[in-house]
Amino acid sequence: MKKIIIAGGGLAGLITASVLAKRGISCLVIEKKEYPFHRVCGEYISNETVPFLKSEGLFPAELDPSAIHRFQLTSVNGKLSELPLDLGGFGISRYQFDYFLFQKAKATGVEFLLNTEVDSIIFADDKFFVETRDKKLEADVVVGAFGKRSKLDVALQRPFIRQRSPYVGVKYHVRTNHPSDVIALHNFKDGYCGISNIEDGKSNLCYLTHRDNLKRYGSIEQMEKEVLFENPFLKTLFSSSEFLFEKPEVINEISFEKKSPVEDHILMCGDAAGMITPLCGNGMAIAIHSAAVMSELIIRYCQNEISRDTLEKTYASRWQSLFSTRLWAGRQIQRLFGGVRASNLAVTIAQKAKPVANFLIRQTHGNPF
Ligand SMILES: Cc1cc2nc3c(=O)[nH]c(=O)nc-3n(C[C@H](O)[C@H](O)[C@H](O)COP(=O)(O)OP(=O)(O)OC[C@H]3O[C@@H](n4cnc5c(N)ncnc54)[C@H](O)[C@@H]3O)c2cc1C
Repeated sequence: MKKIIIAGGGLAGLITASVLAKRGISCLVIEKKEYPFHRVCGEYISNETVPFLKSEGLFPAELDPSAIHRFQLTSVNGKLSELPLDLGGFGISRYQFDYFLFQKAKATGVEFLLNTEVDSIIFADDKFFVETRDKKLEADVVVGAFGKRSKLDVALQRPFIRQRSPYVGVKYHVRTNHPSDVIALHNFKDGYCGISNIEDGKSNLCYLTHRDNLKRYGSIEQMEKEVLFENPFLKTLFSSSEFLFEKPEVINEISFEKKSPVEDHILMCGDAAGMITPLCGNGMAIAIHSAAVMSELIIRYCQNEISRDTLEKTYASRWQSLFSTRLWAGRQIQRLFGGVRASNLAVTIAQKAKPVANFLIRQTHGNPF
């Protein structure tokens, strides 16, 4: 029996673990936090994931996610356009969805080490040696599902970690008068803010900004007043909503640089393999899809159908062909956001050249799997 360790229990880690355990392959997930917990995320999941989630019994129908089919875009100075979303998505908080997936994984027999950080992963003599603060573990396969930025990236000396990234992410849950089938993306200077509904009639309000905005105004609250409120839609939204967190969830140093899907024999999954810009609303779909592709290959490796070398090479090439163009397109499209002229151009494209706008959206989305 091969031993599998999954470092990180976000979407990518939990889904890989569930799929493997359902096929009789036992695995251990090591997660540095304890469920349930909030994460900075727009919480809109593309419907391309629905067939897979349903087939694995992992679609959270009982949590009553909202169904989202329309997209609204506003420019920095408040010009509005609207498009239907061909595929659409559903809205569910990560607090609920990750907890739901954790419970499903546990029920399938997945073992967990919670509140435990993986400090190092070393590959030697065809085995992995995984260290936490108080444990030394061995494994045949290690999945790196530790998200966009982790101390493991530093330990593995991954090139992207040496470059500073200027992006800061902020998230709230609010109660507000937002149509349940709409995801809106509101531009402001050097950033954009999404709003869409999740479960229980709540809305997710989440934005990405440049750290200079924060430096200039000293606090999140002041920056929102001085910068986000320049867009009249955001001013109305922030002023008329009931904020449900005591303080916002905040993360910084969000990097969209290229990463490698296999690093020192560790199979990277989700954001650990590469992160798409959040405006595409597709990072979670990529995390789920990469977990599906990876677990299928790990199963073949555990059944001695393929060697380690084939496992790594096949995963890397499938990852590149499925996701690398989407990540590149996301980086290019992000240039249309956060400036007055560029965001007006984006709104004009969405109003007057709908086939072009649909083409751009399609570049960042995959097909249902
Ligand atoms: C501002 C913003 C908005 C976004 N909005 C959306 C959206 O609306 N739709 C969408 O599809 N995507 C969105 N995304 C992207 C999405 O959040 C990610 O793509 C997705 O969470 C990736 O899942 P993951 O499992 O790879 O990583 P994560 O969900 O980040 O999970 C990684 C886990 O690893 C754990 N971990 C890290 N290091 C260690 C360690 N050393 N040891 C043990 N555990 C560790 C962490 O605690 C975490 O639980 C957004 C991202 C940002 C920044």
